[in-house]
Amino acid sequence: MLTDGLNINEKGHLTIGGCDTVELAETYGTPLYVMNEEVIRQALRAYVQSMETYYPQGGRVAYASKACCFLEMYRIAAQEGCGADVVSGGELYTALRAGMPAERLYFHGNNKPEGELRMALEAGVGRIVVDNPAELRRLSSIAQDMGSTAAILLRVTPGIDAHTHQFIRTGQIDSKFGLTLENGEALAAAREALSLPGIDLKGFHCHIGSQIFDVDPFAHAADVMLRFMARVRGETGATLTELNLGGGFGIRYTDRDQPKPFGAYMKQVSAVMSQTAAELDFPLPFIILEPGRSVAAPAGITLYTVGAVKSIPGVREYVSVDGGMGDNPRYALYKAAYTVVAANRMREPNTRVMTISGRCCESGDLIQENVPLPDCEHGDILAVLGTGAYNYSMSSNYNRLPRPAVVMVMDGTSRVVVKGETYEDLIRNDV
Ligand SMILES: *Cc1c(COP(=O)(O)O)cnc(C)c1O
Repeated sequence: MLTDGLNINEKGHLTIGGCDTVELAETYGTPLYVMNEEVIRQALRAYVQSMETYYPQGGRVAYASKACCFLEMYRIAAQEGCGADVVSGGELYTALRAGMPAERLYFHGNNKPEGELRMALEAGVGRIVVDNPAELRRLSSIAQDMGSTAAILLRVTPGIDAHTHQFIRTGQIDSKFGLTLENGEALAAAREALSLPGIDLKGFHCHIGSQIFDVDPFAHAADVMLRFMARVRGETGATLTELNLGGGFGIRYTDRDQPKPFGAYMKQVSAVMSQTAAELDFPLPFIILEPGRSVAAPAGITLYTVGAVKSIPGVREYVSVDGGMGDNPRYALYKAAYTVVAANRMREPNTRVMTISGRCCESGDLIQENVPLPDCEHGDILAVLGTGAYNYSMSSNYNRLPRPAVVMVMDGTSRVVVKGETYEDLIRNDV
């Protein structure tokens, strides 16, 4: 099947982590997010091991938690020896409540409110990743005010075009994120950071985009960043020791996607960095990787129950399901491709081409168009594969739909890790 941990049982039902998805749908109701713990752990381990194997200088995997954020995800990441990338006070709070050691956290964002910067300093987060000169100065005065020192990385936009969808591309020069390398902004910020009180500049960060399959742009970014670190040494005398290379590794949403094995990335990046470090006589830095999508997405599926099947002769056929853009906004946002299967009819031939529509009051509320499926009817269970990232974390209560539960499966057992919302939850903050 498309991702690890999916199978078909003797009843012709889709299974995940040894659990029958039709039974999961019966037990927990639909829509339902299901995540396979084994797949999450294996991905984290593969990243950790690829560093141990290929990068002699050592590093850390910081799970990019915006991909899928709830207590259990941080617990799993912490147990695997990883840290996490957080981008808001809410993610920071969740990570701390989960017991993630604060020193393993990287706090990102292009506009962190003062309250969140104070919260991060109070908690003792490992690194604050500063996005722009104004934030740098603000952080300096906050840290002085609190009598502490902020250990920081500066986010740099290295100007790499990673050939991905422009909505999820962040490394090119026209970006709301980071300090531009080419026009000298990044160097000026480094110089200022080295002189500001309350600031301890440790190194740099870059993140060149998302859902990238090619290793070359990552290797190129690592090379550009290492050369920049040598330039900073030349201009300021400071030899900085940390380089955070971000995330963005592609996953397989459909058969057309061909991601590289986890190790391929580190192997090539390490080779390029070793060569450049030798050429510049610059010590290899401690590196940080921030995979998000590639850890969470392949682990997750979403289960829906089919409501109506609507045929418009000569136009198309719709299958409406009991969820939609509230639990998965990615098709509505950027026509994201997904594989959809009929979980209770896995051995039946695909004789129809269907458009999966959600239940929200928006014509654009589609999960996917032109999906080959067997003959479906009311009550069938559809599974959308590869939904572990940027689904639950991007979900909303549009149309006052309660967010679905998240169930974690492992070796044939299942447990709720996020309860489904109730109507009472929906009015919790209404006055
Ligand atoms: C989103 C993000 C990531 C993770 O990206 P993926 O494509 O999910 O791997 C890592 N680092 C930063 C700074 C990000 O914004």
